[in-house]
Amino acid sequence: MARRETLTHTSRASRDMSRSATLFERAQRLMPGGVSSPVRAFGAVDGTPLFMQRGFGPYVADTDDNEYVDYVLSWGALILGHAHPDVVDAVTRQAALGTTFGAPIEAEAELAELIVRAMPAVEMVRFVSSGTEAVMSAVRLARAATGRSKLLKFAGCYHGHADAFLVQAGSGMATLALPDSAGVTARAAADTLVAPYNSLTAVEALFAEYGASIAAVVVEPVAANMGLVLPEPGFLPGLRAVTQQYGALLIFDEVVTGFRVSLGGAQQHVGVFPDLTCLGKVIGGGLPAAAYAGPEALMRLVAPTGPVYQAGTLSGNPLAMAAGIATLRALAAPECFAQLGERSRVLAQVVRDAAAAANVPLQANSLGGLWGFFLTQTRVVDYTSARTTDAARFAQLFHALLDEGVYLAPSPFEAAFVSFAHDDRTLDRTRRAMMQAFDHIARHPVGARQSDKRR
Ligand SMILES: *Cc1c(COP(=O)(O)O)cnc(C)c1O
Repeated sequence: MARRETLTHTSRASRDMSRSATLFERAQRLMPGGVSSPVRAFGAVDGTPLFMQRGFGPYVADTDDNEYVDYVLSWGALILGHAHPDVVDAVTRQAALGTTFGAPIEAEAELAELIVRAMPAVEMVRFVSSGTEAVMSAVRLARAATGRSKLLKFAGCYHGHADAFLVQAGSGMATLALPDSAGVTARAAADTLVAPYNSLTAVEALFAEYGASIAAVVVEPVAANMGLVLPEPGFLPGLRAVTQQYGALLIFDEVVTGFRVSLGGAQQHVGVFPDLTCLGKVIGGGLPAAAYAGPEALMRLVAPTGPVYQAGTLSGNPLAMAAGIATLRALAAPECFAQLGERSRVLAQVVRDAAAAANVPLQANSLGGLWGFFLTQTRVVDYTSARTTDAARFAQLFHALLDEGVYLAPSPFEAAFVSFAHDDRTLDRTRRAMMQAFDHIARHPVGARQSDKRR
């Protein structure tokens, strides 16, 4: 299937009368917005979300049999692409042996070993089922270890949907432009301090005022939930120094960057080592698994060896462990991440070239298996500058790319991903699609109709 020269796909007009459209109507009667997670509803780009039915390598196919080059990859979870044979094999074997026991299994130690061996700052691991749980639990652990209550995070960084993080969060929150979530009490948010990403000055000022009560700084070491924003050279070393100076912990939320930026995550790439590391996405190989991890002295504070309670019925799930092990084993070759980084670099250049040819202002960057762009002239270093991206124009580009058979995340505030399955032919196809799509948006300036994206 992946060998086919052309993909089948249709225009936006026919998408609005598609099987996806029918399914969307049905789903909206049964589930809020018709979805299980908000950005999937296409609110930021308008139109009908594609209901997917299968994935193969770098491609996905929707229920109308339209095929797309996939740069969402389940929000970065699928670093080997869809339905990688090793993962399919591992999961089906395990499924036949039982899907869950609620008891320890050998595969947990196996996956933990692969993580410990790869990640410099990790000696012990606790598995959970989602990135939200991982970061929420890491913060609980940091509060227990320090006896302090406050948490410092960065505007535009997303750490899952636990109450304490829904303060100027990225991802869906950035898309919906909500400053906060309803249902989060002032008290739950009161212990969260927020600084602009890449602003060490702001962090130092907050420590000067609240230093004695800050338990932890939590950061995406490469920000991938307000689009892709890279850390400035001194930023992460500065966070390491200031947290050490004040006796606070440094938590790297590597739910996206773990096993995607390098085998040892962003921490290995930048050479800055956090106290606690949160993982998710790639480590579950496309099934629900996540983890928080760190040195033995800290991790022993977690129950049953320590006083920090945290548990999960499906934690360390056998299917997820099997998929995670198959995935991490496939990443072990040393040249892997150099190749992945090269593909992302090419993709960033592809959008730069397409935008330049069409005279559309654009900022693009890439790192490891991450790439992304903003439709702006402004250099993007934080959430404020990220928001200068032209959201209406992005929506137009997004649909033009679907017309050309390329599927990006349906929001201007998401990073794009690449997998090991994206080969030269996939990239060539993407290059042609980008040239067409940028040419289209240059020739059809956004009208007032599309500015109403929050309906
Ligand atoms: C996706 C993500 C999370 C949340 O993970 P879920 O599995 O969706 O709960 C947390 N942190 C970062 C950086 C993420 O990208």
